[in-house]
Amino acid sequence: MKRMCLKGGHVVAGDVLLSTDVLVVGEKIAALGDSASFGLGADDEVVDCTGCVVFPGVIDAHCHIALDTGVFATGDDWLVGTSEAAQGGITSVVDFVGPQPGEDLHHALDARLAQAETGIVDHAFHLTALDARPETLCSISRCREWGISSLKIYTTYRPNYYLDDEAIVSILERASDSDLAVLVHCENDAVVTHETARHRGEDLYRSYPAMRPSLAEVEAARRVIALSEYTGARVVIAHNSAVETARVVAQARSRGIRVFNETAPQYLFLSARDNRESPEPWRYILQPPLRAAEDNEGLQASLLFGAVDMVITDHCAYTREEKIHGMAGGVPGGLPGFATLLPMTASVPGMTWTKLARVLCQNPARIYGLWPRKGAIIPGFDADIVVLRDEPVEIIDARHGGFAGYSPFVGHLGRGRIDRVYRRGECLVCDGKLAAHPGRGEYLRV
Ligand SMILES: [Zn+2]
Repeated sequence: MKRMCLKGGHVVAGDVLLSTDVLVVGEKIAALGDSASFGLGADDEVVDCTGCVVFPGVIDAHCHIALDTGVFATGDDWLVGTSEAAQGGITSVVDFVGPQPGEDLHHALDARLAQAETGIVDHAFHLTALDARPETLCSISRCREWGISSLKIYTTYRPNYYLDDEAIVSILERASDSDLAVLVHCENDAVVTHETARHRGEDLYRSYPAMRPSLAEVEAARRVIALSEYTGARVVIAHNSAVETARVVAQARSRGIRVFNETAPQYLFLSARDNRESPEPWRYILQPPLRAAEDNEGLQASLLFGAVDMVITDHCAYTREEKIHGMAGGVPGGLPGFATLLPMTASVPGMTWTKLARVLCQNPARIYGLWPRKGAIIPGFDADIVVLRDEPVEIIDARHGGFAGYSPFVGHLGRGRIDRVYRRGECLVCDGKLAAHPGRGEYLRV
């Protein structure tokens, strides 16, 4: 079996940073320690990691490759999307199975698995539940045998995605019985509908944050947490954009409720001021929308002290053209983020490499059942490894835009220049350049 030694780096191993060597045998991490003890032979590859951080492969637990919402669709595919992910240090993604209304969920999963066959990183899926029909509840009970450990539901977007409280309770109950996590997009639908109507006729790009106020997110999160308490289901509050939402989650946890949360770099660094004052406000249309600068600061602090569990991309590859001119159906919401997840999150003031590994790797692995296979550089785990330099990286469209052709973080300074990326021991990125064979990403049954 192929043996490889990553020599002389600073290794993020679990919760500690060690100056040590890493032995990879085949697809697995075999040992940490002095390479003199590895018994290396002339045929074994030795990669000089002197001066580099050796970081676990990132798990992006919320992204949308080749997205089709029924209203909007992105033009990327799994090879394009996962190649971009790999170049950003992401070696596993948890994407979505998004059925059409009335579609059989197992059929939708099979179709998604077929799409993902060209991908280069490993992948798992959240299964989106659009309703609480008996067929849907029956499918939820079978998720575990299909290798699925989580559902996705929405409290907004009529008519396709919205669920009322009765449907949410039925789904949470069934998820609890099957030990599935439920990722919930939280925005109060009535508030969003009212505010959107009130601001109609204004410049959408400038007024977008006002159309979907923080209060809508906070209310829905409170309600979902109450229903989680009622049903015993494990819920994850999706893309926390308001600091008050993170507070609500923290309070619920202190009462012993099993609730987790995630945020994204856009909510840590961008604000409604970008919508109001940027000469290019088209870069900042997403749901939930950007909030106040105080929310950025509050979420950054929450992340550092553990009140936010995960940072995810919510990657959607709508192109610059589609964002500027709209598509049939209007302006699509959603931002590209694969290239910027690691460098932007690493640039949060006070962030350490071990804390970063917790929010980008360990916590997603634990919450979605990928632990103890993914999420850390520990013997026995998959050899998913990023070798990077602790250097500032200026975010520019040409380097970080990918398929979308732009980055919302343009002009920001990230941290961490990625040299090499390994997925199960295979080099996907070598000396900063893509070097992967298409189609070797695996479906992670969890
Ligand atoms: Zn999303």
